Amino acid sequence: MQLDFTLKKYEQLCRSILAAGLRTFTISEFLTSATDHEGIVIFRHDVDRNPLQALSMAQVENKYGIRGTYYFRTKTSVFRTDIIQKISQLGHEIGYHYETLAECRGNYKDAMALFIKELNMFREICRVTSISMHGRPLSKYDNRDLWQKYDFLDHELYGECYLSIDYNHVLYLSDTGRTWHPTRYNVRDKVSGQTLPELETTDELIQFIGAGMNKPLCLLTHPNRWTDSPLIWGKEWLLDQCVNRIKEVLIWVRR
Ligand SMILES: [Zn+2]
Repeated sequence: MQLDFTLKKYEQLCRSILAAGLRTFTISEFLTSATDHEGIVIFRHDVDRNPLQALSMAQVENKYGIRGTYYFRTKTSVFRTDIIQKISQLGHEIGYHYETLAECRGNYKDAMALFIKELNMFREICRVTSISMHGRPLSKYDNRDLWQKYDFLDHELYGECYLSIDYNHVLYLSDTGRTWHPTRYNVRDKVSGQTLPELETTDELIQFIGAGMNKPLCLLTHPNRWTDSPLIWGKEWLLDQCVNRIKEVLIWVRR
């Protein structure tokens, strides 16, 4: 049996997207493009940890001429300027994976000041025109709420991944919880909108893409999950199992 969530499997996914004749977009390309969005796949990646694995994924995509958007957290272990630069040089878009409202425990003013400071840290290295919030399931603060008081458009940004895309017209599938299922393990990492296909494995996703889509597809992957190293794969698998059990309780409690 071939393992799922490996780079080999990811390569298969990339090939299937190209074989289906679909065009690939970064988030900013999508946000700034004209209205013809038929037959496209938007590649979004949230780099929560292990930035080196983001580089490996970026190299796989580059091999197929695909460009995606890599949203980096600013945690010291993740915000590796050398890696960010390398991914940017491969032609990918770099974005800011912000979590400042949770970081500042709900203090909006401090959270906004920190947001500007961290956005500028990115801009010292490369161009940043889009952002995505980090979904911290255990925090009581939803980082998106920052935009109830402030406007991200005031900061030379084309948009925010959850708030600027109309998910009534875009299929959104995420690998959160080590499944492509749209709701099972998504506490915050989800969008409201249409009913989404209940896929589990990447093979099912590949089949779904091959059968033809009538809407743009936005794929969110977390590169830390995708690896060909058995050791890292096992570690990530174990971590996913633990987090999923916690999320099951959280989803049950918040129901
Ligand atoms: Zn995240």
